[in-house]
Order: sequence, then C-alpha cells, then structure tokens
Amino acid sequence: MNNTVLVTGGAGFIGSNFVLAWVNQGLGTVVNLDKLTYAGNLDNLVSLEHSAHHVFVHGDIGDQHLVAKLLDEHKPRAVINFAAESHVDRSIHGPEDFIQTNIVGTFHLLEAVRAYWGALNTADKASFRFLHVSTDEVYGSLGKDDPAFTETTPYAPNSPYSASKASSDHLVRSYHHTYGLPTLTTNCSNNYGPYHFPEKLIPLVIHNALAGKPLPVYGNGLQVRDWLYVEDHCAAIRRVLEAGKVGEVYNVGGWNEKTNIDIVRMLCRMLDAKQPRADGQSYANLITYVADRPGHDIRYAIDATKIATELGWKPAETFETGIEKTVNWYLAHQDWVNNITSGDYRNWIQTHYSER
Ligand code: NAD
Repeated sequence: MNNTVLVTGGAGFIGSNFVLAWVNQGLGTVVNLDKLTYAGNLDNLVSLEHSAHHVFVHGDIGDQHLVAKLLDEHKPRAVINFAAESHVDRSIHGPEDFIQTNIVGTFHLLEAVRAYWGALNTADKASFRFLHVSTDEVYGSLGKDDPAFTETTPYAPNSPYSASKASSDHLVRSYHHTYGLPTLTTNCSNNYGPYHFPEKLIPLVIHNALAGKPLPVYGNGLQVRDWLYVEDHCAAIRRVLEAGKVGEVYNVGGWNEKTNIDIVRMLCRMLDAKQPRADGQSYANLITYVADRPGHDIRYAIDATKIATELGWKPAETFETGIEKTVNWYLAHQDWVNNITSGDYRNWIQTHYSER
C-alpha cells in the first residue's frame, strides 16, 4: 500500500493544521475531502496550492459513492476523520446539520471504508487504520472536584453537538467489534492555535478586542475547559495512528484546566502589552457578561495518562507557550481573520476553487 492518507474535514481548524504538518514533514500525500461549510477555509492551505502531496476534493463524507471512488483511486493506508459540524452554539440553534454530518455522514464514510478495507489483501488489511477524531464533550460535565475523564468514563453528552459526536463514536466502535474494521478513536479537549475560526472563544476574544467590540462571556465565566495547543493534538493523532492498538480509544489533553474568564483576562493582559489600545485603557474593559448558554457544561477535564504511558505522547507546549504563539499568530495574520469575517473569503473560494 502507498503512503497516502485520506483526511476528511482537512480545510477546518484542526484538519488544516494536521494536513500542513503531514505534508510539510514529508509523511506522504494527503487526499483532503472537505465540504467547505462556513468552517472550511482553503486559505489555511494556500501554502500547499502547488504541492503534489495535497489533493483537495470538494465533497461530503455522506456521499458514499464519492468516498468509495476516492478510496479506490488513491488506495490510502489510513482514513482520518475530522469532518464534523463542531460548534455547540450552532447545534443548539439548528441541530439537523449535526445529525446529518456527524452521524449519517460518519455512517456513510464507515460503509465506504468497510467495503474498501474488506477488499484489501491480507497485509494491507492488517496495516490499514480508520482514525476517528472526537471530543471530550461526549463524557458530559464534571463537578468541581470530580476526577478527570478517562477512556472508561460513561458517555453523557449534553448538547446536540456532543450527542452527535457520541453517536459517531459508537458507530466507529461498532464497526470494529462487528466487522473487525481497524479503528482508533481519539477524544480530545479544547484546542487552540492558528487557523481557529473566530466564532470560538480564543480567536473571538482576540478579534473582538482588536476591533474594540465587546468580549462576550457566558454566565459567570467560571466554566472550566482543558486546553491543548492544536499542533500537540495533531502530534497525538499521528502517534495514535502509528502505534495505537486497534479498537482502542485514547483521551488527549493538555493538563491545562482554565476558567473561561481567566482565559479572557489573560488574553486582555497579553494584548494590552503587545498592542495597547489608542485610548490607553485595558482591553479588559470590553468584557461583557451575557446570558448563559442553555445546558452549559460546567467543567471538562481530560486524564491523558493512557496515551502518555502506552504511546509516550505528551504535549510539547505549556499553556503559556502555546497561547503566546497563538496571540502572535493572530496579530501577524489579521488579513486571515478579516477575510473570513468580511466575506472576502467566500469570494476567494469562488474565484480559486469553483471549477475543481
Ligand atoms: P471545524 O468546524 O473547524 O472544521 C470542520 C471541517 O469539516 C470544515 O472544514 C468543514 O468544511 C468540514 N465538513 C463539515 N461537514 C462536512 C461534511 N459533511 N463532509 C466533509 N467535510 C465536512 O472543526 P475543528 O475544530 O477543526 O474540529 C475537527 C474535529 O475535531 C471535529 O470532529 C471535532 O468534533 C473534533 N474536536 C474538535 C475540538 C476543538 O477544540 N476544536 C476538540 C476535540 C475534538
């Protein structure tokens, strides 16, 4: 089998970081299947525009015929599934897309992969992997003093987003147990870093602060999230792909629990130092408490002991080094943010990729 992998959702935040690292490290060719929803951004991958090791395909993981054709044509040694609707707030306002992509789409993807895998020769069958990228939100919410989520924590999803991801995790699990498909699942905590769509907390705060807009904080801001730098997540996925035991689940986290309000205050302090406001006031004056999200989970925390001890993975970044890189990246890439938020990005897609 060749060294090609099929990545789904590779134009999104984590997927594009994964694709960039894979190609830039010379690990092989990526066939990148992405539907280019509002969250998919080919601008992230512009540096690969002329690379022979990146093949972009505009399409839906729910299009089983297309996935089967791609598998047949490119003969990948692995499929890594990032494609998803991923924003909790959007899932509250309109859950249907989450059901369609995260559940029905994953089902069709699995069906196409099962047929492809079933027809491989014995050696290729043994080395093939289907890696499903999932979230810690499937485990529900923790109390302040509860131990962190392990791989055996019972599922208790609370939002349509996390319920749809939980369903896809169960489907993946069942394809291993029922059909023997060599699956791997990773459940990761909140990611941050370059190319993060500015609807999520960290890029939203940076973007709004620089624009002098209010910095919305849900409820009392004391919700706790466990943060991991996106490149560390991508390294964990590569490690699981390389050495993970088939059928297993690996929790991935950065041991970085922070309240939302602490994150917002930290970003304000960093921006105060790096790019002071013209009026001399602190960006923290823009913090605005807003009505809490319905059913908002209080705390997520990942116990990443299994991947650390069994596979030797640990994050390269601390929260302090990762957030420093992230803020610097956003300050240096204001055009990237402005393209998304101004709608120029949509026009860019039309002119660059409409005929592909
Ligand atoms: P994202 O929303 O930034 O990107 C999702 C990508 O999937 C987009 O490029 C989008 O166009 C594409 N997509 C959506 N529906 C599709 C479909 N039907 N067919 C093909 N492509 C489709 O998401 P992200 O933050 O990069 O998350 C990637 C994966 O990692 C998701 O499965 C998410 O659940 C999981 N995850 C995310 C985080 C996080 O903090 N962002 C943490 C843990 C796990």
